[in-house]
Amino acid sequence: MTKFIFVTGGVVSSLGKGITAASLAAVLEARGLKVTMTKMDPYINVDPGTMSPFQHGEVFVTEDGAETDLDLGYYERFLHHSKMSKTNNFTSGRIYQTVLNKERRGDYLGGTVQVIPHITDEIKHRIRASGEGYDIAIIEIGGTVGDIESLPFMEAVRQMQVELGRNRAMLMHLTLVPYISSAGETKTKPTQHSVKELRSIGLQPDVLICRSEHAIGEDNRRKIALFTNVEERAVILCEDADSIYQIPRTLHEQDLDDIILERFGIEAPEADLSDWDKVVDRLLNAEGKVTVAIVGKYVELPDAYKSINEALLHAGITHKTKVEIDYIDAEALETDDSLMQQLQQADAILVPGGFGERGKLGKMRAITYARENNVPFLGICLGMQLAVIEFATNKLGLKADSTEFDRQAPEPIIGLITEWLDEKGELQVRNDDSDLGGTMRLGSQKAELVEGSKLHQIYGSKFINERHRHRYEMNNRYIEPLEAAGMSISGYSAKQHLVESVEIADHPWFIGVQFHPEFTSSPRTGHPLFASFIEAAIKNQKQAHSA
Ligand code: GLN
Repeated sequence: MTKFIFVTGGVVSSLGKGITAASLAAVLEARGLKVTMTKMDPYINVDPGTMSPFQHGEVFVTEDGAETDLDLGYYERFLHHSKMSKTNNFTSGRIYQTVLNKERRGDYLGGTVQVIPHITDEIKHRIRASGEGYDIAIIEIGGTVGDIESLPFMEAVRQMQVELGRNRAMLMHLTLVPYISSAGETKTKPTQHSVKELRSIGLQPDVLICRSEHAIGEDNRRKIALFTNVEERAVILCEDADSIYQIPRTLHEQDLDDIILERFGIEAPEADLSDWDKVVDRLLNAEGKVTVAIVGKYVELPDAYKSINEALLHAGITHKTKVEIDYIDAEALETDDSLMQQLQQADAILVPGGFGERGKLGKMRAITYARENNVPFLGICLGMQLAVIEFATNKLGLKADSTEFDRQAPEPIIGLITEWLDEKGELQVRNDDSDLGGTMRLGSQKAELVEGSKLHQIYGSKFINERHRHRYEMNNRYIEPLEAAGMSISGYSAKQHLVESVEIADHPWFIGVQFHPEFTSSPRTGHPLFASFIEAAIKNQKQAHSA
């Protein structure tokens, strides 16, 4: 029978609730348990797929093609044995949509449809379903205690605690314990108030995770326990760490896993955290440093490229090298030559995925530079599409473009999939703008790599599975001229024979991929493509130094 740990947050947002919950999951997994995680988001959007990365950071794509909150990325990076799926993230909007559809179908037989019990029942149903088959399910509630939006979730959690009993459910609350430098004091009052707020809706936390910038001290631990009715040893202190991958050990050192297993009556072997120790050691004791320039649209908010940042960091762990990321605003790069100089300082260049035309020319400028100057280049999704456009423009002299940017592009080298499936060879424009959700190639798909290609060598296998999130594809009509000019196709999707990747043989490391390798990288195993990219960056740096 699955046991549930509910995780709420208080005082302020951005305390790292997802990271802390995922770290706990990692410790429980290290004790041999089967653990899964779910995020409940209180907003009304049906899923995060249509939300701007400026507001919520990146959209994380699961194997089964769900567009989810970026916290699911942390869940997968911390968990070794469980993959996230559609069931592991749902929003208020999704819950209401389900209930309203049932109401329209007449499923409620004329009854009045209400938040309690109909909305809360739907929430509980999804929570239970997400935990099926696991020893422990950790359920994170988005937002901060006191928000109007999250109330139905909180109420569902309250009901579930009663229904499941102490032996199968517990509540962990994450709060901030600020340090007031002018007074030289650590303040526990916000935590007290946050727990009071929880209690007012019928929830008593069993564990408190106290986030702070400074050491909190044992006297404060005692004080917090006393005022919040939480056992003293269950008040866990979690100061800012050098790396998030230290948190599993921080939690374990304060016996959080023992506290949980005792409560649930589970016997399990000691936690083996040696993998995490290795990750932290390699990360904090790196021997060299390389710089990767990311040329994109969302550079003010690094969370928009969360999985890419992490994947680069993991590649650094693989090579015991610190990877510094220099974000360069693609739009500014179009005209600003000082940014061009900045770009030239980088050991490697990455153009990430994206939507829309803004910054296109800046990204192309970066690609031209990388291609002409033998700088390692990785283009991901839109980054690959632009690499193809850049090559066709500058090497083939074509007026090439994506129909995403110009519906009447004279040479639609990137277009909607239906455009070149037309048998008469005519350009078809599928009008799928009416529903921006769910019209993309999404989720994990199999690709076949071309033998002898660099990509094949990097992955070391003929077939790979990588995740997708895009509408546009490379137009197969241009394969021949591209290959004749030196840009070769290194992979095709197994099902539809769509172009999955391109590379330039006559360049030390120039690779574009239509898929998103960043979603499958983890700190413990890294990812072959990112590892190879960073290896190329290290080589490039050495050559630059010896030149
Ligand atoms: N906008 C492009 C497309 O839809 C690329 C998407 C992406 O980079 N994720 O195909």
